[in-house]
Amino acid sequence: MTNNDTSVTVLGLGLMGRALAGAFLRAGHRTTVWNRTPGKADELVTRGAHLAPTSEVAVRASALTIVCLTDYPAMYELLGEVELAGTTLLNLTSGDSAQARAAARWAEERGARYLDGAIMAIPQAIGTETAVILHSGARADFEAHEPVLAALGTVSYLGADHGLAALYDVAGLAMMWSVLNAWLQGTAMLRTAGVDAATYAPFARTVAAGVADWLPGYAEQIDRGEFPAEVSALETDARAMDHLIEESEALGVNAELPRLIKTMADRAIAAGHGGEQYPVLIEEFAKPR
Ligand code: NAP
Repeated sequence: MTNNDTSVTVLGLGLMGRALAGAFLRAGHRTTVWNRTPGKADELVTRGAHLAPTSEVAVRASALTIVCLTDYPAMYELLGEVELAGTTLLNLTSGDSAQARAAARWAEERGARYLDGAIMAIPQAIGTETAVILHSGARADFEAHEPVLAALGTVSYLGADHGLAALYDVAGLAMMWSVLNAWLQGTAMLRTAGVDAATYAPFARTVAAGVADWLPGYAEQIDRGEFPAEVSALETDARAMDHLIEESEALGVNAELPRLIKTMADRAIAAGHGGEQYPVLIEEFAKPR
């Protein structure tokens, strides 16, 4: 059910909080703001934001209160003594899934509705469709405020478990750094042959996009728990990994990352999975080392 009250409060006017409040103002929503250091509200106030004298007044001013602070302890410090009964909090502060679930219990014990979110964007992208913002918590709470939240970018709902947004956030980081590290490995190797990073980048992009296309099919194997070698067997991939390690060492570039990948593949092969397809490595990723 959509909430007809589209007023919104933003607590925390750092780089991100100011971008969030600015997007709500641009979309025409009545926007109340509060920040520990009040001067950061000045520009928003000239654009029509209402500066609340206290965080308590700010929470009371709107149907939805967005929290965007440095970390979760800052939220407890700020709202510990504030009456929250009947309000809806959306916490867009970065944290882990356990922090998100604990914050949901904390808010619900105080009579508040609670959504947790993760911002997959830089402040400059907020208000454009490239800004992806993930939400988890009760679907009804998300849907009640979705029309207002749409001012921030591409908003999506992941599920009732409050930890999901934080989990997707870190999973996205794993993807991001893995792609970047692989690219840097290749760039370091090609530079030894006089190929600069800009020349290699388009080829690397094509490979990364091609591999990304494999994910849905590989995901089906993981979800079924069956890994028939339809494209290539892990032991074939492992021989190519040796090639990558040897080439890196011969060129005098860092071979730590290729060796790590090979170590994981070797363990899976030793466990009898050499004839199966690459996603069988999920079993290596699914347990601690
Ligand atoms: P920031 O510029 O450092 O702002 C931090 C904000 O938290 C400020 O408003 C600060 O108030 C407030 N704060 C910290 N401790 C507080 C306390 N104890 N009580 C009251 N207010 C407190 O950080 P940011 O870039 O806006 O990031 C905010 C959140 O968004 C973080 O969780 C960050 O991970 C997340 N995020 C940021 C980006 C990005 O690109 N910036 C991207 C995705 C997610 P003062 O102004 O008084 O210091």
